[in-house]
Amino acid sequence: MTTRTSRCGIAYDLHRLVAGRKFILGGVELEFEKGPAGHSDGDVLSHAICDALLGAGGLGDIGTHFPDTDAKWKGASSLVFLEHTRKLLDERGCRITHIDAVAITEKPKLTPHFAGMRAVLARALGIDASQINLKAKTNEGVDAIGRGEAIAAHAVATIES
Ligand code: MG
Repeated sequence: MTTRTSRCGIAYDLHRLVAGRKFILGGVELEFEKGPAGHSDGDVLSHAICDALLGAGGLGDIGTHFPDTDAKWKGASSLVFLEHTRKLLDERGCRITHIDAVAITEKPKLTPHFAGMRAVLARALGIDASQINLKAKTNEGVDAIGRGEAIAAHAVATIES
């Protein structure tokens, strides 16, 4: 009889919102006047999920695997990070059980886009969309996020090995 071990990873990410950048979140591009600054596409939701999965797998963090000093990742779709993380977990016999994440931004409204994001994220991770839960919060007008200067995300991932 094999004993299964369940492990959990946590993560946080924040990017500044600036003019002239596409607003990409959860692998989906939304219509908005600003977008997240970053070496890659600045997708905070994908970054947080990636980091939570790496944490659950005991695999370090996103900065180690995809350094922003590496020209290879310049302008990269963060879905590539998720696909690579899935591969690392697969190699170690880890299976993704569930992901829960919250994105924090004043605008745009995210909830109508969650079904699309879950489908795209699930495809990149090789899991079912039902294994991903997404939530949206504003920052009640407080601090940089509240002023629309930044977007952040928290994520928790559970894996089984
Ligand atoms: Mg990031």
